[in-house]
Amino acid sequence: ASLKSGLLQEGQEKSREGQAVAVVASEAEAEKKSKVVVCARCHSLRHYGHVKRPDAEVLLPDFDFVAAVGPRLASPSGARSLVLLLADASDFDGSFPRAVARLVAVTSEAHHADWKHGAPSNLPRAVLVVTKLDLLPTPSLSPDDVHAWAQARARAGAGADLQLAGVHLVSAARGWGVRDLLNHVRELAGARGKVWAVGARNVGKSTLLNAIARCSGAESGQTLTEAPVPGTTLGVIRVDGVLGAQAKLFDTPGLLHGHQLTSRLTPEEQKLVQVRKEMRPRTYRIKAGQSIHIGGLARLDVEDLTVGSIYVTVWASPLVPLHMGKTENAESMMKDHFGLQLQPPIGQKRVKELGKWVRKQFKVSGNSWDANTMDIAISGLGWYGIGLKGEAVLGLWTYDGVDVVPRSSLV
Ligand code: GDP
Repeated sequence: ASLKSGLLQEGQEKSREGQAVAVVASEAEAEKKSKVVVCARCHSLRHYGHVKRPDAEVLLPDFDFVAAVGPRLASPSGARSLVLLLADASDFDGSFPRAVARLVAVTSEAHHADWKHGAPSNLPRAVLVVTKLDLLPTPSLSPDDVHAWAQARARAGAGADLQLAGVHLVSAARGWGVRDLLNHVRELAGARGKVWAVGARNVGKSTLLNAIARCSGAESGQTLTEAPVPGTTLGVIRVDGVLGAQAKLFDTPGLLHGHQLTSRLTPEEQKLVQVRKEMRPRTYRIKAGQSIHIGGLARLDVEDLTVGSIYVTVWASPLVPLHMGKTENAESMMKDHFGLQLQPPIGQKRVKELGKWVRKQFKVSGNSWDANTMDIAISGLGWYGIGLKGEAVLGLWTYDGVDVVPRSSLV
């Protein structure tokens, strides 16, 4: 079954059981009921790390989850901790909170070593939550494949010893998978557990927590609580009425990932790069000596090939223009068109501000044009899907410090 129909079936089954899948149907209504009004400044500070007023820009340091929450996870007595690791389906490797995942893995291991006679009941555990699933081309994907792929990517980010108590594919926007996630979290947290929701800025954490709160029937009208004074909202916040009387759900400030290209873009540039609707592929058949630009942000060169051509599919926001041409012209493209025809960056002055333009080289071999052989993902931007029969040498250019991740193909 395709991913979308799988998820729909899940929803339909629930409604047969008479449970509240009304999440989807009455979403607008519920949103009205449970939405908390937070002033624009608080929202801005909390989710984007700066105030959206150019004359009063206040940049905030990253939230240090490891220092702030780490000691509480490691506590040998007390309630069980459950960490929800959020990753955006459209930018998995860039958004995955790998430092926190690593911390959970290491803390669990240390606990295990301390307890020779079986695992203690308060071992910290992690659940992987893939958000914004509706952005993937769901009809052409199988839920099982995405599940396995996400689990493998999480391990690639945090280390092979990361144990996951569950993997959930969700779309808060559509209500997909939210009830299953809530039920599982309740089960894992038990009566007195502490649940920490963790994710990079813009991963969809607020939207998801609000959807979970609605789904939990927190009808008090108030779900996410925010302190009234900016500056005090930057720490951990308790979300009431979701998990029951004694178990606690904590929202943590969005993490700032320097390796995500988005973290160095202006709000205006971010709007162009962020994916809002189901992603659509743009595919090219290209030869050695040709290049594909994604705006003025990344470029893939086919440097060498053992076959005539390869297929390259670009998965990125449709608002970012692509350009295919000869590699020998790439330098003048950068000089003459970056920041102008090829945006973002917006304006030629921004090109230098984004950093040094650097290349990574990949040797790829594949045996089929039908299936994509591999992806090369650019954190915070999207990815190139490569399909080839033979061998290729590829050069990937982007700004220094932005993560470039070769991985098994998603689509
Ligand atoms: P946070 O910074 O992690 O709290 O992220 P937000 O909840 O504010 O969401 C960031 C952006 O992603 C907003 O533009 C949301 O509308 C969008 N978003 C959140 N969840 C979803 C989702 O499930 N699907 C889609 N397509 N967009 C989403």
